[in-house]
Amino acid sequence: MADQNLMEKIISLCKRRGFVFPGSEIYGGLSASYDYGPLGVELKNNIKKAWWKAMVQKRNDVVGLDSTILTPKIVWEASGHLQSFHDPLVECKVCHHRFRADHLLEAKQAEPGYIKEKPIELNEIPCPDCGGALSEPKNFNLLMKTELGAVDGQKEDAYLRGETCQGIYLDYLSVKDAMRQKLPFGIAQVGKAFRNEITTKNFIFRMREFEQMEMQFFVDPKDAEKHFNYWKEQRWNWYLSLGMTEKNLRFRQHATDERAHYAKDAWDIEYNTPWGGWKEMAGVHNRGDWDLSRHGKYSGIDTTYTDLEGEKYVPYIVETSDGADRATLMFLIDAFAEVETRSGDENAKHEKELVLRLHKDLAPIKVAILPLSKKEPLQKIAKEIQSSIWNELMTQYDETGSIGKRYRRQDEIGTPFCVTVDFDSLEDKKVTVRERDSMKQERVAMADLRKYLLEKF
Ligand code: ATP
Repeated sequence: MADQNLMEKIISLCKRRGFVFPGSEIYGGLSASYDYGPLGVELKNNIKKAWWKAMVQKRNDVVGLDSTILTPKIVWEASGHLQSFHDPLVECKVCHHRFRADHLLEAKQAEPGYIKEKPIELNEIPCPDCGGALSEPKNFNLLMKTELGAVDGQKEDAYLRGETCQGIYLDYLSVKDAMRQKLPFGIAQVGKAFRNEITTKNFIFRMREFEQMEMQFFVDPKDAEKHFNYWKEQRWNWYLSLGMTEKNLRFRQHATDERAHYAKDAWDIEYNTPWGGWKEMAGVHNRGDWDLSRHGKYSGIDTTYTDLEGEKYVPYIVETSDGADRATLMFLIDAFAEVETRSGDENAKHEKELVLRLHKDLAPIKVAILPLSKKEPLQKIAKEIQSSIWNELMTQYDETGSIGKRYRRQDEIGTPFCVTVDFDSLEDKKVTVRERDSMKQERVAMADLRKYLLEKF
């Protein structure tokens, strides 16, 4: 069931608490561009760190890379994107708003009462904004072009990469040789990608500048299916390991006519979104030998691999492709909870409280330090506690407002633990540690606090 209301609450929380702001807002904004605020950048960095740890640091068969965003035109000729990286665009003849034809059809098919046996044609769909007639679909290339050089007339065309994986293919031979890798092995990269998207609704779900977390696994073609199944499972389990609710996830295989030009097989991990049901969050693709064959052909460099038995082949590529922004959005949606008032603050005039039940590895702030009073000596003790753990754990110091309000503020941003220093602390040398979800409070000796908290993470 679509719940636009829930999205509005999440977007409002993101703005109010410094997770995500509209880009260039003081000038009226730039469509589909968003900035990550102080808490958003922590959350997204934690997601990227968790991905890197799982995909690179805790494996012997995957290495990392950071390749350029700017790339010459030939890369995208070779990759096939200049010819085939299109979305079908329709324009309203009355209000001139533009839409993706496939999205309009998808939305119709998701409507209650839609009969599969009577498929709707695109020309039967009116403009969703004004009801006017729509044009025939035209192919619209998604790549973004720019120019390099200072002198007009001598400028060179370049492209902002439309997917991070292309940089991996360009460096495949250098990485393989430098790292003395034998197949199968993978190269991973996290970075920005750019697409001139036609429709850009739904917050950070679809932007023109976004971040991908991609891993390309180079394999013997005979083994591609085995690796493909393995990586599908790995990516699914990664989302679960960070607390995502399994019933909100599903796999969906792309139909043959839906696959990208390079794909032999493609599955999406979809998330059941509040605004429109199942939407792609990540993909696992069998790209066959398309990429290395094409770059071999266009560069003139041999990309054939000779294995230990002397067999020669162009490696197949199994790709895992996750969006850092879509993952951020889905983790936020999944963690968002409205609960009955629970902080016991009698002065609070509110019906519901918000709790972000983020996994502790993802939470932007790990520990909040809350002295009961702004005055010495509580303030001094609280600051000492903070500096004893901030090397390892992201902390936030907050001394304003009632303690109930401060707990609520931390619950809203997903902080797993709050440490309160009160007047008893002066006597018993203990502090109160409060856990976000259970609200369980425990008195912990200050001398043991660092160890206690580090063990929780
Ligand atoms: P869609 O069908 O939604 O346009 P796609 O199939 O084109 O997505 P891929 O090319 O497979 O997406 O890209 C891999 C991942 O990159 C996606 O699963 C998604 O997480 C992310 N991604 C793609 N396009 C965008 C975008 N415009 N904004 C944010 N993330 C994106």
